[in-house]
Amino acid sequence: MPLMRRALLLPALLLVASAAAAQAVTHVNAPVVPTPGAGFSAGLVKDPRIAAVLADIAPARIRYTDSVLVSFGTRHTMSDTVSETRGIGAARRFLYGELRAFSRDCGGCLVVEYDPHDATISRFRDRPVARVVNVLAWLPGRDTTRVVVIGGHYDSCVCSVDAADATSDAPGADDDGSGTSAVVELARVMSKRFPKGFDATVVFALYAAEEQGLLGSTGLAKRLHDDKKTVVASLTDDIVGNVVADDGHTDSTSIRLYAVDSIPSRSGELARYVWGMGTIYTPKFEVRPTFRLDRIGRGGDHSPFHRMGDPGLRFSERLENLKRQHLPTDDLANVNFGYVANVARLNLATVASLASAPNPVDSVVQRRDRASGGQKWQITWKPVSGAARYEVLFRQTTSPTWTQVYDAGTATTFLLDEQLDDGWAAVRAVGADGHRSLTTVAGSGAGAPRPAAVPAPAPTPPPAPAP
Ligand SMILES: [Zn+2]
Repeated sequence: MPLMRRALLLPALLLVASAAAAQAVTHVNAPVVPTPGAGFSAGLVKDPRIAAVLADIAPARIRYTDSVLVSFGTRHTMSDTVSETRGIGAARRFLYGELRAFSRDCGGCLVVEYDPHDATISRFRDRPVARVVNVLAWLPGRDTTRVVVIGGHYDSCVCSVDAADATSDAPGADDDGSGTSAVVELARVMSKRFPKGFDATVVFALYAAEEQGLLGSTGLAKRLHDDKKTVVASLTDDIVGNVVADDGHTDSTSIRLYAVDSIPSRSGELARYVWGMGTIYTPKFEVRPTFRLDRIGRGGDHSPFHRMGDPGLRFSERLENLKRQHLPTDDLANVNFGYVANVARLNLATVASLASAPNPVDSVVQRRDRASGGQKWQITWKPVSGAARYEVLFRQTTSPTWTQVYDAGTATTFLLDEQLDDGWAAVRAVGADGHRSLTTVAGSGAGAPRPAAVPAPAPTPPPAPAP
């Protein structure tokens, strides 16, 4: 462990040096270097209060929720809404009832609601208008202007483009009964174990009309923006239960996540955060980030948030089988609930950590340091309410995640002894209890990512089929 030992020794030496150098550098810690093969924690640390809750996620509870959803035959957005035994109406009343029961058990800590709006189903030939009804449970935080959204879509389909689509059997056990049931289980466990909530509000979102063009999530994203909420992150579990490929190949120990990684979006920073969370909270469950919006030609409920400038990403099983998606064969027998539970544990660690952390810093400026002949860089940012201190991170452009972490203390400026011509720098806020915000990447002197800098949302959903 030579690197570890050096990391422990260096801060003391540098503190002595920095005292002599007056205000040039407030506080410098040695880099945290990731251990090859052990994943990349990027300096994130485990909170024992969160770790202790992960075992509460129960595969049997997830299976129960999914089996009831499947029993409704179809949950097509335009299916029967009156029947108690078939169609999307029965499904959403069941979900609403479950969430209300959790809220009763936690002394009313969850605010449960139907979230309806009307939308044109442009994928159908006659473009009908349908009632799109999300089911939401809010776990209010101390700051209700900031929200962390964790969602899955409860609608299903066999995804034809005619009226028969709404009446055909579409069990949707994996797509997306699995993600919906995971989110319901998160609402159960997190309301029970954290009834007073976190710093930010958590929204457990069960979307409708994903299959008709992400209509439910688009509606929620617009509503949150109209209400001037800051979306800390939006995560979606979609197709998270199959572990056997068509050729029999099996993978029950890794999960894919999809996020765009380009400035000014923070979605890539969210992916790195989840990657780190997996490394420290669920180390036997491998997180496999892919830096693109989604699988090729596919779409998901993180996309509307990403397009509106919010950090968003999608979880999907490692091995998909298209012979069991959007078909009557998407049944319970092909969902591995132990696997879904592991996805939910990763979700829980991420959501609880982000909701416990301060806001990210708003913008980060980088300037070449002339005193060092251009070898060092001056990094500056504005203070964040609730931040106890700050960390400056660095990675080479070729590194997929942050490899060095420097403690900047309470300062809002830092002299970085790294060559930014060859890499990226970022800053994050650290709360008093050690929770880290998402990182904000230093821009080229013009400030860092801001939602306002992101293009306006697309007027219509993407044409690709949405799973
Ligand atoms: Zn789906």
